[in-house]
Amino acid sequence: MRIPFNKPYFTGNETKYIEEAVKSGHISGNGSFTKKCQSFFEKKFSIKKVLLTKSCTSALEMCALLINIKPGDEVIMPSYTFVSTANAFTLRGANIILCDSRKDHPGIDETAIEELITDKTVAIVPVHYAGVACDMEKIMSLAAKYNLFVVEDAAQAIGSYFTFSDGTKKALGSIGHLAAFSFHETKNIISGEGGLLAINEEKFIERAKIIWEKGTNRSAYYRGEVDKYEWVDLGSSFLPSEITAAFLWAQFENFNKIQNQRKEIWNRYYDLLKSYKLKLPIIPIYAFNNAHMFYIICTSLNQRTAIIYALEKEKIQAVFHYFPLHKSSFYLKSHIENKLIQSDFFNDHLLRLPFFYELNITKQKKVCSVIAKELLQDN
Ligand SMILES: *Cc1c(COP(=O)(O)O)cnc(C)c1O
Repeated sequence: MRIPFNKPYFTGNETKYIEEAVKSGHISGNGSFTKKCQSFFEKKFSIKKVLLTKSCTSALEMCALLINIKPGDEVIMPSYTFVSTANAFTLRGANIILCDSRKDHPGIDETAIEELITDKTVAIVPVHYAGVACDMEKIMSLAAKYNLFVVEDAAQAIGSYFTFSDGTKKALGSIGHLAAFSFHETKNIISGEGGLLAINEEKFIERAKIIWEKGTNRSAYYRGEVDKYEWVDLGSSFLPSEITAAFLWAQFENFNKIQNQRKEIWNRYYDLLKSYKLKLPIIPIYAFNNAHMFYIICTSLNQRTAIIYALEKEKIQAVFHYFPLHKSSFYLKSHIENKLIQSDFFNDHLLRLPFFYELNITKQKKVCSVIAKELLQDN
């Protein structure tokens, strides 16, 4: 019984909608499937304006353009994240300021942000690791105090929420000025490659459409507001094709079904593992669990290596990440190494277990029994 780490789930309507898109004759971007997906997301999560993109990476690149990142600007983000979070801003010349993770969770340590703010700081980029909210109340109040932008890297955070101290609950991606989501095949809701930009401030909307349309005012032209379309700003090719949007629509239609099933899988892992001497994921009271991933925190690097090896022998694929940015060869070309103890800790101790829609209880029991056996030998 081979158990892969990830297996993309198809709802069954993907090819049907792709065929519809093809038959409609409109397969470039911004057609009817794109519009359906965008308005679904806007309504469901109370976001002012959504634009589908080719990836979360490209949505983050749009954010860097929208907030006018210039060489020398500083952008604060966790070191424990995927490279796209940093690349989007580095491409515009920003200096990335890396922050440590919390002790109890790989998300950014919100108490360590303020001391990193200087007069060059332009933005904070919280990453909702595993779909678990960063402390957005704290981060938004820091942003207000120092007049900074907040760009949420919500790649993993679809359908997740943050509860403010007054009880208000808001979807992740609807809180910062801008946010980026991913539909990469390793995420909850997928389109192969894909993503979207969420815009929560009116003032960004028109310019975002221009950047999205390769720096032209094509949207205004189609609305009849200008008589020709031309180059008016920076931009790039950020729109996905209707083929991608058609695929995504089939997934959106099954949003609740997919999320509920993943939640069940997550709870099963938790129940199967909770009695062992292992640290399991912690969900802070203000956060919500969208069941993006299940990880364990091993007691040592050796223990993690042994567990990976034991799982591998049973053809079970478990993976770790992220090699923290502050230790990466690219970052160290232009920076001296900082000491970020918690990022290093999660890099060495965190292990992600197989997690996908079709993971059944038999397979989960198998994964957990291999881990349990290894823990016993370790003692
Ligand atoms: C997956 C991921 C990305 C990149 O998403 P793409 O859609 O593949 O560009 C960025 N940031 C985080 C935190 C991610 O998990």
